[in-house]
Amino acid sequence: MEDKFGRKLNYLRISVTDLCNYRCQYCMPENGIEHLKHEDILSFEELYTIIREFVGLGVTKVRITGGEPLVRHGILNFIESVARLKPIEDLAITTNGSLLKPLAQSLKDRGLHRVNLSLDTLKPDRFKLLTRGGNLQDVLDGLHEAMRVGLKVKINCVLNRGINDDEIDDFIQLTETLGIDVRFIELMPIGDNVNYAITHFVSNESILEAHPELVQIDAEDPSSPAKYYQYKNAKGKVGLISPLSCNFCSHCNRLRITPEGFLKPCLHSDIELDLRTPLRLGESILPVIKEAFAVKPEKHLL
Ligand code: SAM
Ligand code: SF4
Repeated sequence: MEDKFGRKLNYLRISVTDLCNYRCQYCMPENGIEHLKHEDILSFEELYTIIREFVGLGVTKVRITGGEPLVRHGILNFIESVARLKPIEDLAITTNGSLLKPLAQSLKDRGLHRVNLSLDTLKPDRFKLLTRGGNLQDVLDGLHEAMRVGLKVKINCVLNRGINDDEIDDFIQLTETLGIDVRFIELMPIGDNVNYAITHFVSNESILEAHPELVQIDAEDPSSPAKYYQYKNAKGKVGLISPLSCNFCSHCNRLRITPEGFLKPCLHSDIELDLRTPLRLGESILPVIKEAFAVKPEKHLL
């Protein structure tokens, strides 16, 4: 199904929880966020109904995110049921990796294809500070186990000025040593972190200026927000993602669902459409989905 700008909206990102076991400095306040009430969060049955409806309309890529998706009880059964929906071609998860090691094999067996692992530093003490208590070794063990069981893994790294921007080389080298893609995502001002984001922002241009050896390569997927670069003969690629200044709106194929069941047609817009109410009234959610296709902005203004 296409929107009025001819974009084929075939990619659904669905957040299954607002909860997280980390408190990354740029993402959450130290004491966490005010949690949603249990009854306000969509059940897995409701989430499944939504995804099934979208798949019927042409969605072939589904990404499960959060909060931290692996903290939600029942996530494996949910992933298995989503993986059985045809024709999903790409089922992925974005995770902080802390719980990945014991779950990687089961995730693979239940039908997950890919993992985007968020990892911002390779130094244990720094990791603890940045995540406010996390254990780097858990994440590294999760990364290696996911690769071992045959999941496709990418690393996402958010650079924070003065905190981890001296590790750019180390992350780039992982494209060679591990042979996987590493993507640097520019820090975004979200919620309460506006001042933090301004003072800690590292631009992707500064990475390119400092690393002239990175050679741009053609985009395999025009709907990807990342520009890709090759480091030496590395098997993996270096990706640069500029969520604010990016200009891929004309290729944007994404729709997002929040844990409470709001459908967001654009990350940068305030438009939110309520799927939960019709779901709980036993009504069709199709009209809401069609509205999302109609109101997805042509581009964001930031
Ligand atoms: N907890 C999971 C994780 O960390 O991968 C999934 C949810 S987290 C919100 C998804 C991604 O958003 C992570 O890669 C994280 O680094 C990124 N993120 C969070 N806050 C951000 C911000 N202010 N700017 C840029 N990326 C951010
Ligand atoms: Fe945010 Fe993910 Fe960090 Fe949790 S692990 S605080 S959701 S970035």
